[in-house]
Amino acid sequence: MNRVTISADYCKGCGLCAAACPRKIIVLDSKAINNKGYHPASVIAPGSCTGCALCALVCPDAAICVERDA
Ligand code: SF4
Ligand code: SF4
Repeated sequence: MNRVTISADYCKGCGLCAAACPRKIIVLDSKAINNKGYHPASVIAPGSCTGCALCALVCPDAAICVERDA
């Protein structure tokens, strides 16, 4: 399975990754607040990730790491 890791404390809640994800599996977690006071992005359905890495590409704070299946 492809793996997407979001470093919540680097996230500024801009939502660019959520908008870019073709599978629409990233949301801003309204129940969490990071150390900057933002709602951080979170992957809600990791099993649906294609590993395209668009989320990581658009993140202005390099908060996302995508590891693809071999
Ligand atoms: S790698 Fe692609 S499919 Fe997976 S969460 Fe990021 S944008 Fe969505
Ligand atoms: S693009 Fe980066 S900074 Fe913006 S919400 Fe997504 S993880 Fe957070």
